[in-house]
Amino acid sequence: MGLAVRTTDVVVLGAGLIGLAVAAEAAARGASVLLVGETRFGEASPAGAGMLAPGAESDELETDVVRRFAVAGRDLYPSFLRALHDETGIAVPFDRNGILELFADGEPEHRPEGSEWIDARALRALEPNLAEYSGAVMHPNDGSVDNVVLLAAMQRRIELRRSITRVGAGVRSVNATTVRPRVILEDGDVLEGGALVVATGAWAAQLEGLPRRLPVRPVRGQLLMLEGALAHHVIYGGGGYLVPRRSPDAPHSFERTIIGATMEEVGFDSHTTPEGLAHLRNVALRITPESGSAPLVSHWAGLRPVTPDRLPILGPDPRLPQLIYACGHGRNGILLAPVTGEAIGALTAGATTSHDLSPFAIERFAEAL
Ligand SMILES: Cc1cc2nc3c(=O)[nH]c(=O)nc-3n(C[C@H](O)[C@H](O)[C@H](O)COP(=O)(O)OP(=O)(O)OC[C@H]3O[C@@H](n4cnc5c(N)ncnc54)[C@H](O)[C@@H]3O)c2cc1C
Repeated sequence: MGLAVRTTDVVVLGAGLIGLAVAAEAAARGASVLLVGETRFGEASPAGAGMLAPGAESDELETDVVRRFAVAGRDLYPSFLRALHDETGIAVPFDRNGILELFADGEPEHRPEGSEWIDARALRALEPNLAEYSGAVMHPNDGSVDNVVLLAAMQRRIELRRSITRVGAGVRSVNATTVRPRVILEDGDVLEGGALVVATGAWAAQLEGLPRRLPVRPVRGQLLMLEGALAHHVIYGGGGYLVPRRSPDAPHSFERTIIGATMEEVGFDSHTTPEGLAHLRNVALRITPESGSAPLVSHWAGLRPVTPDRLPILGPDPRLPQLIYACGHGRNGILLAPVTGEAIGALTAGATTSHDLSPFAIERFAEAL
C-alpha cells in the first residue's frame, strides 16, 4: 500500500496561539495551509494568564529591538481583535488600562520610558484593596487579554478559512533537507509543503529530523483563580501577579482573579502541587489581604517554552530557508502571538517583514548550529 502524501503551500506544526496566528496570516497571503497539532496536557496557550506586558516585563526584553517588537505585539492587539471579531463574531475580553508594578521601598531608580510613578495616596485611590506599598510604576497601555477566549476565536477563524485544513494528529518526524519539506505523522501519513513552520511550543526540542536540536525547554507555571474582583488593574507585586478576568458575555455578572505564577524546572510535569498553590495564596495575600477570604475557583499549570536567553526563536534555518522557526516564546507568547503571525506569515510567502527579527535568529545559539 502506498503512503498517502498530502501537498500544500505551507505546513504549520503546532496549533497553539503561535501556530494558529502563523497559519491565519499565511492563508491571508494566499497560501493553502495544513495546520498540524494534537492537544497535549500542559500546552501553554490555554494555561497562560494573558498579560500584555512589554512594560512590566521589560527586564526580560533586554534590548531596544526586542522591546520594540514586544510593544508592536501589544499595539497590534486592538486591530487584531477587531478583525477576529468581524470574522468570527467572538468578542475577546481585552484590557488596556495599564499595569501597576508595586514597590515597597520608595520609587525605583530606573523605570521604562513612558511609565509613570504613582505615590501611595494616588495608588490607594486607584486600587483601594491593596496592602501597604510606597507606590507603583504605572505601565500605560499594558494590560491583558482573555487567552482562553482568544484561543477559541482563533480556532474558529481557522475553521472558517477554506484554505486552511486542520490536521489533528501527532507529528513523528520531519525531513526538511528536500526542496519541499516533509512531515511524517504518527499514523504514517506524509505531508509536504513549500514551507514548514515549527511552532510546537515546549515540545520543540523533541521533534525528530530537524537539522539541529532546538534549545527550548519546558518551564512549569502554576496559577490559581479566585472568586471575585480583587483589583481593577493587572498588578505585579508580592513576588507574582494578579490579573482580573471578566465574563465575556456579561462583564458585570461574575468577576474572577488569576494569581500567578511559579517558574519551575520539572520537565514535562504539568500538575499543580500543594506547595505551588500555597505559594500563590501567599503572593495574593501580599498583594491584597482581601484575597484571604476569596474562594478558590480552580487551579492549573502549563509549560512555557523557554530558551536559554528567554527570547523566542523566529525566522528561517540558515541552511534550509524553507524551514522556519516560530517557537520558544517563554513568558510572552500571548503578547507576541499576533506579531509573530504577521512576521512569520510574511516569511512563508517569501515576503520581507517590517519587523527586525535578527535578535531572534537561531544562529545566536552557537551550540545549536
Ligand atoms: C502559567 C503561564 C502563564 C503565562 N502567562 C503569560 C502571560 O501573562 N502573557 C503572555 O504573553 N504569555 C504568557 N505565558 C506564555 C504563553 O502562554 C506561551 O508563550 C504561548 O502560549 C506559547 O504558545 P505556543 O503556541 O508556542 O505553545 P503551546 O500553546 O504549548 O502550543 C504548542 C502546540 O504544539 C503541539 N505539539 C507539540 N509537539 C507536537 C507534535 N510532535 N505533534 C503534534 N502536536 C504537537 C502541542 O500539543 C500544543 O498544542 C504563560 C505561560 C504559562 C504556562
